[in-house]
Amino acid sequence: MTGHHDNPLVGEGRNSVLSSSLIKAEAVRLGFDACGLARVTPVDTSTADAFNRWIAEGHHGDMDYMNRYGDARFHPESVLPGCRTIVSLALSYRPQTTIPVDQPQIAYYAYGRDYHDVMKQKIRELAVALGLNAASTQSSSPDVVAGGSFRVAVDTAPILERYWAVKAGLGWIGRNHNLIIPHKGSFVVLGELLLTAEVDIYDSPITNHCGSCHRCIDACPTCALTDEGIDARRCLSYLTIEHRGPFSPEQADLVRRQPAPRYIYGCDRCQLACPHNRLSDNSGDPGIPLNTSLLSITAADWKALTREQYQQLFRGSAVKRAKYEGLMRNIQTVIDN
Ligand code: SF4
Ligand code: SF4
Repeated sequence: MTGHHDNPLVGEGRNSVLSSSLIKAEAVRLGFDACGLARVTPVDTSTADAFNRWIAEGHHGDMDYMNRYGDARFHPESVLPGCRTIVSLALSYRPQTTIPVDQPQIAYYAYGRDYHDVMKQKIRELAVALGLNAASTQSSSPDVVAGGSFRVAVDTAPILERYWAVKAGLGWIGRNHNLIIPHKGSFVVLGELLLTAEVDIYDSPITNHCGSCHRCIDACPTCALTDEGIDARRCLSYLTIEHRGPFSPEQADLVRRQPAPRYIYGCDRCQLACPHNRLSDNSGDPGIPLNTSLLSITAADWKALTREQYQQLFRGSAVKRAKYEGLMRNIQTVIDN
């Protein structure tokens, strides 16, 4: 930071506001792919009602954590008392090199180090760059890094990440239920810097550019994605990552119903079909460091994977979430079946 931007505060004292252009410039400097600012207001009733209905109808399957926070997730003040601003940040994880199409596939986000850690670290760096209680970032607490003035949230805190990303003008929610960022696509992870401070200029939602496109819905092999919404219980991402225990015959049938190349962990089909991902310009270094050893694993290697190899291969990776048993269940269901 140089010149008159040395101090990110505009004005002094209790009524100070942060400079939005400075926050965005620092976000770009740190390598974030998008940054927007949302003023904290009560979550729209339509969003809260739709979320509660989705949970009540059981579409979240075994993902009990989605129901854990109740109404707290509609109130950012429950995460940071006095929260007035949400800085929404996105980091691309689209890999430049991918697993050959004749081998079992894993979702792009699982190619790299656990994105939670990378994202949290980068948002902390942003907070430090903005001069926000830098000393307290030494805290060992996973989420709370400051004495009440800011908080970093990545997936773990009860924050409706995509809702705030839309409010912050980052992109729109596509028919595939992903946040689509113009020129960047949807292979991004989101995180938030919650502030008690205000900023001088807030962003507004942008137009939805899905138009009459239907490609994501057409690409879904299990009909989890329809014009009516998404049923996680039929979705390969849910079944191969979140579902615990053996597959029922119906679930195994859904997992096997994929055309080649078949996924053994997650599913990117409805994102790969999206023209906004084809046109995206995030072809530089991905924000999330890649685990390159994954790229050369063959179907035979997967079938023979031992627990020790699994632990070594996925140390510090998001794949740990499926556990060895879950991954082997997927492999045995998909390969040679
Ligand atoms: S992730 Fe795969 S299974 Fe799930 S909705 Fe998208 S295309 Fe369908
Ligand atoms: S594939 Fe088409 S409809 Fe689906 S999210 Fe992308 S632009 Fe929207």
